[in-house]
Amino acid sequence: MNVLFVASECAPFIKTGGLADVIGAVPKALAAAGTDVKVLFPAYPALHALAAGGRSIRRFDDLFGGKAEVKAINAEGLEILLLVAPHLYDRDGNIYLGPDGQDWSDNHLRFAALGCAGAELALDGADGWAPDVVNVHDWQAGLLPAYLSQSGRNTPPVVMTIHNIAFQGLFDASELANLKLKGEMFAADGVEYYGRISFLKAGLALSDKITTVSPSYACELLTPEFGMGLDGLLRERRSDLSGILNGIDLETWNPESDPHLVESYSARSLKRKAANKREVEARFGLQRQDGPLFCVVSRLTSQKGLDMLLECLPSLVAKGAGLALLGSGDSALERQFADASSRHPGQVGVIIGYDEPLSHLLQGGCDAILVPSRFEPCGLTQLYGLRYGTLPVVARTGGLADTVIDANEAALAAECATGFQFAPINATMLEQAIARACATYRQPRIWWAMMRRAMRHPVGWDASAAAYEAIYRSLAAHRAKG
Ligand code: ADP
Repeated sequence: MNVLFVASECAPFIKTGGLADVIGAVPKALAAAGTDVKVLFPAYPALHALAAGGRSIRRFDDLFGGKAEVKAINAEGLEILLLVAPHLYDRDGNIYLGPDGQDWSDNHLRFAALGCAGAELALDGADGWAPDVVNVHDWQAGLLPAYLSQSGRNTPPVVMTIHNIAFQGLFDASELANLKLKGEMFAADGVEYYGRISFLKAGLALSDKITTVSPSYACELLTPEFGMGLDGLLRERRSDLSGILNGIDLETWNPESDPHLVESYSARSLKRKAANKREVEARFGLQRQDGPLFCVVSRLTSQKGLDMLLECLPSLVAKGAGLALLGSGDSALERQFADASSRHPGQVGVIIGYDEPLSHLLQGGCDAILVPSRFEPCGLTQLYGLRYGTLPVVARTGGLADTVIDANEAALAAECATGFQFAPINATMLEQAIARACATYRQPRIWWAMMRRAMRHPVGWDASAAAYEAIYRSLAAHRAKG
């Protein structure tokens, strides 16, 4: 079976968050089961060298204002299709934001082009290959089913995957013609959303099946609190919606072979983790503490709940614990964490920025990872934490609730706890969870058993890849019958 993935980022080539990790990992897991996935994403400047070595399989004379082509390359175990469109993607800096920190003003055209090119490939194939199913990811690919729908042709079925419903791709209705959408598409069952155009809504309304990245988030999305205006539509389509838990790439994230650690280790050689802790302390200017060393690896946004962590810092340091934070984003949060590290020298270390190797070292070197998100579709850093024996302390929401087993009395007695959860999601409960983690850390027998158990917790893609494949197969079979 052939599947076309369409997304705005794909690890290890270009990444701003968890979406990229998933797009880079699922095709490999599906390939192992015999499904042929090709991944279409834009050729941003970081991809130029790779694109230069690619084979041109499709050309566009005018794709939203300039010439474009699709180049096919095999790299990093993936079959990738790069959309080369210099007028849209040749920009330095962040792939979504200009130097002023604001969205690129033509983001609607940049990602309409992605959907449009994907639709052309879906309809006509290229290079002797045509998809049986298309899987579009997040708002950036959301217009693809709209272009398929208005083509009036027999089209392959589409799955839309929601990685984060907070990003909806909302644009002014006056852009309809610029987006090359027919007037009839501006309707309640098309791209229209409260008088505007929403790429995400278009994808949700016009795809055949909808998935999201954890079972709990799939339920949460049906509520006004988490559905962010799209809960009504999702309730109507609940029989087409499923939650499939994200996994992680077990090769890239492997404490036994991770090149970014100073010492590799396994569940049987956990003492060697300590060398990585020393390295984290050195890199973050921290002194050795009696309590656990917590880390955060995160975008700094209100979603991630780190303002609550700021409130808890006095109590965290009073317990003899430490914190190493790597993150970037909201400038107020960046400043507040930098201030906190000056207030607690040696106990709170902060590095503002995006640093993939350092994120691995933190997973390898810290005792626990904090993920106090207000909502979290799946979350990946807690999964890396499990794999590295770095116990997750998480808010009980979305994928965090689905992946971490709280160390309550019952779970400890049953010997199945892998971390700490807190709810309701507020600073008081986070502080309590941190206190529980600190208290457990002082009982090394329990802590070490939890570490070993966390490292055994299945966080790979096997089960979830099978779930995606089952959806693709049912859609392809349905189309064949129709
Ligand atoms: P989201 O996609 O909402 O940002 P996820 O937990 O799903 O959250 O994925 C975040 C991904 O980005 C993880 O792979 C994490 O390690 C990585 N990441 C986040 N911030 C940084 C950073 N400052 N430096 C390096 N990696 C980061």
